[in-house]
Amino acid sequence: MMETPAKVRIEDILDRVERYRPDMDEALLRHAYVFAATRHKGQVRRSGEAYLIHPLTVAWILADMELDEVAIAAGLLHDILEDTETTAEEMELEFGPAVTRLVEALTKLSSFESSFTSREATEAENFRRLLLASTDDVRVILVKLADRLHNMRTLNFLRPERQVAIARETLEIYAPIANRLGIGSIKTEMEDLCFRYLHPREAERLERAISERSEAAQKWFTEIRSTLAGVLEEAGIEGEVLGRVKHLYSVWQKLKRQGVDVESVFDFLAFRIIVSTVGDCYAAMGLIHQKWPPVPGRIKDYIAIPKPNAYQSLHTTVIGPEGHPFEIQIRTHDMHAIAEHGIAAHWSYKERGSKPTDDSRIAWLRSLLDTTQGSSPREFLDSLKVDLYPEEVYCFTPKGDVLSFPRGATVLDFAYRVHTEVGHHCVGATLNGRWVPLRTELTNGDIVEITTSNQQRPHHDWLEIARTGKARSRIRAWLKREEKERAVEVGRKLLEKELRRLDSSWKRFSGSEEIQELLTGHGLAREEDLLAAIGFGKIAAAAVAAALTRHEAVDDEEAIRTHLREVQSAASQDAPVLEVTGDADFLVYIARCCNPLPGEDIVGFVTRGKGVAVHSRSCPNVRNLLYHPEREIEVRWSTSAMAERRTRSRVDLDMTYRDGPGFLASISHAIASEGANIVRCHLNAGEGGRGTVSLSVEVRDKDHLNRILERLRDVEDVLEVERRGAFRRAAP
Ligand code: MN
Repeated sequence: MMETPAKVRIEDILDRVERYRPDMDEALLRHAYVFAATRHKGQVRRSGEAYLIHPLTVAWILADMELDEVAIAAGLLHDILEDTETTAEEMELEFGPAVTRLVEALTKLSSFESSFTSREATEAENFRRLLLASTDDVRVILVKLADRLHNMRTLNFLRPERQVAIARETLEIYAPIANRLGIGSIKTEMEDLCFRYLHPREAERLERAISERSEAAQKWFTEIRSTLAGVLEEAGIEGEVLGRVKHLYSVWQKLKRQGVDVESVFDFLAFRIIVSTVGDCYAAMGLIHQKWPPVPGRIKDYIAIPKPNAYQSLHTTVIGPEGHPFEIQIRTHDMHAIAEHGIAAHWSYKERGSKPTDDSRIAWLRSLLDTTQGSSPREFLDSLKVDLYPEEVYCFTPKGDVLSFPRGATVLDFAYRVHTEVGHHCVGATLNGRWVPLRTELTNGDIVEITTSNQQRPHHDWLEIARTGKARSRIRAWLKREEKERAVEVGRKLLEKELRRLDSSWKRFSGSEEIQELLTGHGLAREEDLLAAIGFGKIAAAAVAAALTRHEAVDDEEAIRTHLREVQSAASQDAPVLEVTGDADFLVYIARCCNPLPGEDIVGFVTRGKGVAVHSRSCPNVRNLLYHPEREIEVRWSTSAMAERRTRSRVDLDMTYRDGPGFLASISHAIASEGANIVRCHLNAGEGGRGTVSLSVEVRDKDHLNRILERLRDVEDVLEVERRGAFRRAAP
């Protein structure tokens, strides 16, 4: 990156552009310059300088990234729509649609900045728009980054609180975006500027420590540099050896990580070797390792495995003179250009004039936007920050494809990266040949093969296990959908119950005008949303039923009130025998297949369109339902119902008997002696003096039934007696 002139003039920009675009559209740039100068005339920045210096510097930064005239013109004009009377129509007449679209996108972004009260919501919405605009035209984000970079350079003219707020936003979002897009030059400068505003004392101390050692650094630099140049020359490799002071923020982070202070030049100096070919990169590294031994584990081959932002280079740390380790980066000229300008280099070299839609960095932007659609500002920012986190882990698929993840990512993240459905059904993985559970963290070089099961589905605790924005948003979406389906089912059941009380039905209203009116009144779009709202307990079913039947049954307000009172008292009289843990609003009913009795071990399942079915734990149907643990809900017998024992449940019994005198009288006596009633009895006389009886009795609870069964088994001619169905185990 070239040094920015102290006061950029349009001639500087034109000279810079001409170097990489000899046939540039000079007229467009001059016109944009004159136009900006006229419109911003008389405006001053907080620094007291003419306002024009800002768009000129932004344009210079863009020219230094070697962008095209449209981007640079947009840089010159980027504040025109916002800060002057100029309209988009006027601008389009002067500069055409491409420049105007760019400036409009940028204006929309900044106009949004002040219109929200919540800083976080504003931030989130802002970045979403920025990213969205950039997937159409990546120049939007490049101009925005240049704009922010110059604002950071001149931040000292603002109030201290504004300085800190802007620096924090820049460090948290803009610098990482620049990094993710591979624009190392902007990322580095932004980080150092932010560091000075956010940690002024630390920055000053560090700078002082470095400058105190500048003499030693100079001596050491010359020494190593000539050794390195000698090594390359001997092998016939043409290359440039650059020594550099690492940027302040990265030195500070490294020292903080190691819990030390600057002790020697080795803490802040590093080398970079730039050669012509990839082969030379590896050859140079080999030669260096022969000269100084490498530190194990610190050799990184980003040529074979580029970073997600397309950065390529070889990194190694060697033990130098007097046993001090220092870092060397080796790369080609092309790789260097990409490291400095990232997506901008790609954009301007390879696809001049067209959209770089196949660029993986743009693909990243797009996927971030897709996966965060409909999420709250908080969730969006979380996703953004996790995905922008620069520390990466690289893993392999069994086929050898490389996938990169943020540090701390788990097997579950890997599964979701492969495919959403693979994620939903993931039960674990084979990691380097060994089976591991979902929550296992990935480490560099892992070979990961995901294991899935059709029975598996996402759970709430997966949100803690997954670390990537993509996985978390997929899980959240699944859970939301599932939760809503359940709520719709429960809501429909509750509403139907209320409507039945009023001699009406859901069928009669579904799709009707009354429903439409009600939806509008509640600000809801579809019937499903209304049922979900009832199911979630946000709207009372009784109130909806009353509102719907208002026209049918009653026509004055007093009548409506009476009507509502009736509905409410009807609801309270129907005291439930069962309680559902956690949510009293579920409609509960006893499953017919096993007809559990008070006192029996029971379990509830949310059923499609019916509410909660309560089964006996030993019911064979329960075993199938257990494959859907997410539908299970805890239920228990209400203690009042147990205490009062007023309710009676009907139970069917099957008996085989030997025909004998007075058989019927004996069983009816047995049952009556336990205080139970027979409500139905059916006899089947069979062959050879044997027969079957099926009868229904009303019992209080499980103990009561057991006593009746004992009595019946004592009757002489009863061979066998069982409660129907439920207690027999299904065949294995
Ligand atoms: Mn600006």
